[in-house]
Amino acid sequence: MPIDAARPYDPDNIFAKILRGEIPSNKVYEDAHALAFHDINPQAPRHILVIPKGAYVSWDDFAAKGSDAEIAGFVRAVGQVARDAGMVEPGYRLLANIGQDAHQEVPHLHVHIFAGRPLGPMLV
Ligand code: 5GP
Repeated sequence: MPIDAARPYDPDNIFAKILRGEIPSNKVYEDAHALAFHDINPQAPRHILVIPKGAYVSWDDFAAKGSDAEIAGFVRAVGQVARDAGMVEPGYRLLANIGQDAHQEVPHLHVHIFAGRPLGPMLV
């Protein structure tokens, strides 16, 4: 079920549990500000999720409350993951679903990285 991105952060959401190591993930990258792991239900041949380590539900929440170091660290981590995965050529797609209309299901901010096949024109 999509979530209301304006609601308070739920510390028991599935990505919070992954961050705390309470449930496993197939990790591809971690630094002080971000964790990246394979999506459990990939929508492309390659589908990685990157999450900030802080407790943020939405992009606007992160932008408003995240420190400059957290925001810069997260943005850099997304780029690093794509580079490390060899996705720069022939390319990749970034996507963040925020709130009900975007069908955000996990109430911890995450960026999807899709790659591994021609992804076609952007769909909304
Ligand atoms: P959203 O719709 O919120 O943008 O996407 C949530 C994503 O999280 C989905 O692509 C879903 O497959 C993925 N996901 C949900 N639960 C888990 C989990 O426990 N582990 C991993 N690795 N991915 C998950």
